[in-house]
Amino acid sequence: MSDAGLSPIEREAMQAVRAKNLRGETWPRPPHRRVVTVANQKGGVGKTTTTVNMAAALALHGLGVLVIDLDPQGNASTALGIDHHVGTPGTYDVLLGGAAIHDVAVQSSESPRLWCVPATIDLAGADIELAMQEGREYKLREAISNFAELADQMDYILIDCPPSLGLLTLNALVAADEMLIPIQCEYYALEGLAQLLTTVQMVKSHLNSTLEVGSVLLTMYDSRTRLADQVAAEVRSHFGDVVLDAVIPRSVRVSEAPGYGQTVITYDAGSRGAVRYVEAAQQFASRHAVTANDGSAS
Ligand code: ATP
Ligand code: MG
Repeated sequence: MSDAGLSPIEREAMQAVRAKNLRGETWPRPPHRRVVTVANQKGGVGKTTTTVNMAAALALHGLGVLVIDLDPQGNASTALGIDHHVGTPGTYDVLLGGAAIHDVAVQSSESPRLWCVPATIDLAGADIELAMQEGREYKLREAISNFAELADQMDYILIDCPPSLGLLTLNALVAADEMLIPIQCEYYALEGLAQLLTTVQMVKSHLNSTLEVGSVLLTMYDSRTRLADQVAAEVRSHFGDVVLDAVIPRSVRVSEAPGYGQTVITYDAGSRGAVRYVEAAQQFASRHAVTANDGSAS
């Protein structure tokens, strides 16, 4: 795509993309906005890292992305350079204060197309507060359906979940069209997955019949261990084509980036972790672009 017809800010963003050694392509927009929940109740498997890096990769290739930080730890907000000190309006106010998403979303310094609804520590009490509310599983779904200003520019909404299957994650599963499950290439990686899939089935049967496990991403792969290969093979044999081809390597650059309020995509675009996240995001984006072109699911 040429830069003709782009606004000055878009042209600047495209130049930034090129300067960052990405290929300067724009990826096709999905036919409908995709609401994607990034979940795995196991802690530390790469949910947040996957959310922010996929989001940045999509945004830097011309797509509008909103990240909803649904974890009281606020790690996604940190990685996107978004302030989330106590009192910052964010996800808590959306779920429990009736705030609109467009009023609390903040633009990330990563890209003019990347926005984030920040999470503050207030969210830590949300599970209990939500439990007392009517329609408690539908709060996020309602907020997304009332999302107005900005909404038509957002091709993707990515929701970063906390490491639990409580009401926050349940809200994300009810709000989403699809799930992206990061699985760490480590011992015990598959433990707990059965419970996650049972929860997904329960949500499909009772709360959100259209929810799909759209993608699985293998994270923190260490090529020096045979175990990583075994886990990757087992995940692929269980999930088949749902597993994205790109495997995210364990890399210091990936873990350093949040310390600078950045994703690895902008922190070190040429690093192995950044390149693999861009590949994963491209395949993730192309799945629905195929649907747009020929009407077949892929
Ligand atoms: P939680 O369950 O606490 O929300 P999570 O599933 O969101 O955790 P992350 O926070 O993304 O997991 O990752 C856990 C830790 O591993 C972080 O310190 C992160 O920087 C690091 N990490 C994630 N992916 C990689 C990688 N590919 N290489 C090296 N370190 C990584
Ligand atoms: Mg996290």
